[in-house]
Amino acid sequence: MPHDTPLIATIVAGLGLAFVFGALANRFRIPPLVGYLVAGVLVGPNTPGFVADAGLANELAEIGVILLMFGVGLHFSLKDLLSVRAIAVPGAIVQIGFATALGAGLSWMLGWSMGAGLVFGLALSVASTVVLLRALQERRLIETERGRIAVGWLIVEDLAMVLALVLLPALAGVLGGQEQADVHSSGLLSLPAGYDIWGVVGITLAKVAAFVVVMLMVGRRVIPWILHYVAHTGSRELFRLSVLAIALGVAFGAAKLFGVSLALGAFFAGMIMSESELSHRAAEESLPLRDAFSVLFFVSVGMLFDPFSLLSNGLPILATLAIIVIGKSLAAFVIVVVFGYPLATALMISASLAQIGEFSFILAELGVGLKLLPEQGRDLILAGAILSIVLNPLMFLVIDWMKPWLEARAARTAPPADAKPVGPATEPGQVASVVATAQQEDGPPPKTALTGHAILIGYGRVGGLVGAALKEAELPFLVIEDADKTLAKLKADGVESVAGNAANAEVFAAANPEGASRLILAIPNAFEAGQIVLRARAANPGVNVVARAHSDAEVEHLKGLGADTVIMGEREIARGIVEEVLGHKPSATEPSAA
Ligand code: AMP
Repeated sequence: MPHDTPLIATIVAGLGLAFVFGALANRFRIPPLVGYLVAGVLVGPNTPGFVADAGLANELAEIGVILLMFGVGLHFSLKDLLSVRAIAVPGAIVQIGFATALGAGLSWMLGWSMGAGLVFGLALSVASTVVLLRALQERRLIETERGRIAVGWLIVEDLAMVLALVLLPALAGVLGGQEQADVHSSGLLSLPAGYDIWGVVGITLAKVAAFVVVMLMVGRRVIPWILHYVAHTGSRELFRLSVLAIALGVAFGAAKLFGVSLALGAFFAGMIMSESELSHRAAEESLPLRDAFSVLFFVSVGMLFDPFSLLSNGLPILATLAIIVIGKSLAAFVIVVVFGYPLATALMISASLAQIGEFSFILAELGVGLKLLPEQGRDLILAGAILSIVLNPLMFLVIDWMKPWLEARAARTAPPADAKPVGPATEPGQVASVVATAQQEDGPPPKTALTGHAILIGYGRVGGLVGAALKEAELPFLVIEDADKTLAKLKADGVESVAGNAANAEVFAAANPEGASRLILAIPNAFEAGQIVLRARAANPGVNVVARAHSDAEVEHLKGLGADTVIMGEREIARGIVEEVLGHKPSATEPSAA
């Protein structure tokens, strides 16, 4: 291993081992992120053999956080963000308070100081951006209402942490730690000693506000202008570069100039860009880098972990884990239900927040640096983070499994159907009625009454046209679609639809595949389409399957899985062009559709 190229060594070892262990994990049907964490432990200082540079790994992981938050911003408008503030703000604050109290309680039992309890509790209360966003993305939830609530909630937590990181050094003396004049808190503003607390809070909030104003006034004009300018140069390379430069530049500037976190800065850069028609392309261009760097995030977390601490700290680690996974989830669940949201929303939000990550490490480091938190506290936080990240995919399985049971219970205790979810519920009885209504809105989708019908999956550029033709031909059909906006259009068009990801078993079953005569896959992702073909063949060997593809390899893939006909988009475009130019259909090239 070359010793003079630590950055290359860290990237190569990190990505290489993450790939090997990620693939192994996948082979054993464990989420790949467990493999990435294991790779991190192996290149970390706590296991023998090669040791990667932890500082570098951390910075690389930060790039992953920036690109992820940028990507989320691209799917968000200011309106979306404001639309969830009524639940996200109180939700996050109450949950932070509850988790901090639990953490402080554990700290008290371990005989630590009050200051230690506060830092420890706060560290347990913030969820990891990377873990949450990846979980939402994997389940295609980002653009649903639940996804928006979870992201809004995350942003409030992020803001709270910006405040906590600034306030802790100022308060360290009062809390029984070491008063410090200038603590380097990851690019956040440092404060002269003896500043009064309200002054500090005021300055911090003013800086955040200044950042938002600058983005809305200046960024909103300049960023779309740059994108359009670059798009007109026709250079794909320059376009990619501009997207990256804007995402990273705004995030870094936000952190350096305004004391806002990198993640929050990136989110705003994305949100501003989402108003441009080019945002779709911007998202595509940043995707590959985003995935690579978010893998390095897990590797860098694994590097911090000392597997032997599990032995010496067994019980306190279990207690810490219980606070993160059970305590926080319960708090979030109750809050969301009390606010009148469906049960499935409450479960999804609690599961996605039942973990901790990067912010907790930063807080723990700061706490130890200020002599507020004992070293044992940092070890507990690290172990809690690793274990909760590993358990997170399981949490989603548990909620899938719990949902029918809770719904059945709610149905038994609920008053008749006219109970509607209203503002904040105040009595326990009201909560039950909210759950009951939730079940009608959000249980497994009811099964269609159609038989001998066609199932059309996706109602975008392709599916929308197919649907119109089926309607005109008066053939019975229904659509499975997972984008909220498109579902609204389906409703307006009077077309029967099932909401959700067609790759999900429950959703697919609601379309009655056993009784269907045709399955039409009009979605662009051939991997997802392949899964659906397999599922359809299992339910109904005789169903005729027509699928959409964009390359010869995809055609092969889908046919191999049992599609009868695969239409390759690019070939059809060529046929259309030839027909336009020659005035007749091309005879030479047979379409791949057999
Ligand atoms: P287009 O590429 O414009 O034809 O759009 C594809 C449409 O399919 C979009 O409206 C997506 O929301 C929808 N879509 C993509 N994947 C799925 C899926 N797995 N389940 C349901 N709808 C999907």
